[in-house]
Amino acid sequence: MTEFEPVIGLEIHVQLASQTKLFCACPNGVGENSKPNTSVCPVCMGHPGVLPVMTEGAVRLAVRAGLALNCAIQKHSTFSRKHYFYPDLPKGYQITQYDEPINGAGFIEITYGPKDNLQKKKIGIHHAHLEEDAAKSSHESTYSLVDYNRAGSPLLEIVSLPDLRSPDEAYAYLTEIKRLMRWVGASNCDMEKGELRVDVNISLRPKGQEKFGTRAEIKNLNSFKGVREALIYEIARQTKILNEGGTVKQETRLWDKEELVTKPMRSKEDALDYRYFPEPDLPPLVLKESWLDEVKAQMPELPASKEARFMAAGLSAYDAGVLTSSREISDYFEAVTQSGKVTLKTASNWIQTDLLGLLHAEKKEIEDSPIPADRLAQLLEMVESGKITRKQGREVFEEIWKTGESPAAVVEKRGMVQVSDEAQLEEWAKAAIAANPKAVADYQKGNKAAIGALIGGVMKLSKGKANPKVMGKIFTQLLG
Ligand code: ADP
Ligand code: MG
Ligand code: ZN
Repeated sequence: MTEFEPVIGLEIHVQLASQTKLFCACPNGVGENSKPNTSVCPVCMGHPGVLPVMTEGAVRLAVRAGLALNCAIQKHSTFSRKHYFYPDLPKGYQITQYDEPINGAGFIEITYGPKDNLQKKKIGIHHAHLEEDAAKSSHESTYSLVDYNRAGSPLLEIVSLPDLRSPDEAYAYLTEIKRLMRWVGASNCDMEKGELRVDVNISLRPKGQEKFGTRAEIKNLNSFKGVREALIYEIARQTKILNEGGTVKQETRLWDKEELVTKPMRSKEDALDYRYFPEPDLPPLVLKESWLDEVKAQMPELPASKEARFMAAGLSAYDAGVLTSSREISDYFEAVTQSGKVTLKTASNWIQTDLLGLLHAEKKEIEDSPIPADRLAQLLEMVESGKITRKQGREVFEEIWKTGESPAAVVEKRGMVQVSDEAQLEEWAKAAIAANPKAVADYQKGNKAAIGALIGGVMKLSKGKANPKVMGKIFTQLLG
């Protein structure tokens, strides 16, 4: 049997988080919180005699997105009309960029694979263009409803090159697009709210062959997990067809998330003719050099650069990835370590295991963390300097999470100090040895782990205040 290689390309729509819609002053992104058809005006409702006016906010976000995607920003771009007839499209056409998009070719770098063996790969971006969104229709049993609040919202469509070779790479690509768009504030990319929508194109070709095979396009994907599942299914479906000597039809298919299968929607022959033509009501979009310079100057440091810095300072690729999974997390991490008194590794461990775990459990974002970065820094400084033990540090962490007190206040209130005084430690060690002859015997028979029970004994006697490092040394001395 021939071995096949998947070839995958993604078309992603992200809703830009601008204040207004693309061509009118209606508030953008009012979403589910607003009553239907309240953020509308004659322009986005397509009334006769009105004209679209380009809004600056959306263009600015499109350019920020383009810069994050390493796209060649086009100082001159144009708009076209794409026609189809459906109640969600008030004008009977959508204003979109067709042959001259605002963002030309670019690329991103994706990371995928197991934690201890992460792979990186460059994925090309064909282009990313601006367009207006359609309304949202919902279908009831005998009628349909249309909410025009979303009609005319700005979308950026990001079209990848067919550079992806597996469902995992596609998943990693989506994750990276989302991280970048959120990072530069272009879009929130909440898929549940429809702020990110994705269509996937997939074909197979015999391994080693250069020419691409015939592709299917899959729509109706509403989670990253769904994308992965749909691709796995589609690879199996196309493999079977090809192995049986058949040919894959070029068609659009729909993902059924209940049955976990793709189903045919329309074939190439039924492809819609959109009758594209240049939009006569909008002049070309021309970006001034000075404006572009200002937008570039306002760009934050991008995640790839932060990741590289964190790794140069000694963090693993995995840790650097987690700590740059959002701009807010990376800012928090840098705020904790900025004094230079807390090592990157310590801050990384506490943020990943303690802080992010609890935030996740309570469904909170790091911006809403009950422990602000300067508080965690104070706590970790006490742990690093040996003022309190790691274990005590964990207790203080839990307490300040609940009460919002300062770490110093909790340490003071609870009389926490770490005891490093050797005479005192030796006294506790001797008591622990006397109380646990079995552990001593095991240790002397060569079971070095038995020392854990003895240190545990000291911790009990010292109420957790004994310095574990010095304890280890004392036990080695006493037991030989
Ligand atoms: P269309 O005009 O049908 O939208 P495009 O050329 O714009 O087609 O490509 C749409 C997407 O499909 C892009 O992301 C591209 O990378 C991907 N693509 C194109 N050809 C193939 C192929 N043979 N197999 C898989 N994906 C493909
Ligand atoms: Mg296309
Ligand atoms: Zn409007």
